[in-house]
Amino acid sequence: TYVITGACIDVIDRACVDECPVDCIYEGARKLYVHPDECIDCGACEPVCPVEAILSEDDVPDDQTAHIEDNALFFATA
Ligand code: SF4
Repeated sequence: TYVITGACIDVIDRACVDECPVDCIYEGARKLYVHPDECIDCGACEPVCPVEAILSEDDVPDDQTAHIEDNALFFATA
């Protein structure tokens, strides 16, 4: 799955939302979130993000892994 990291906070450009073929990017209060069960790993969203917030889960750096957990929490409570 792809994960939207901290660079999205208070940016919410939404270019990725238009690009995602399965509409699995959802809007939270301060950032966007990729639904981990719906994402088909196509990678279409990654290059269109103006702040490079979107990464494959495997590429998320150690200082950003909190966003993987935050992402799971978002969909657990939604
Ligand atoms: Fe959507 Fe593809 Fe990005 Fe997953 S990788 S969020 S399916 S555009």
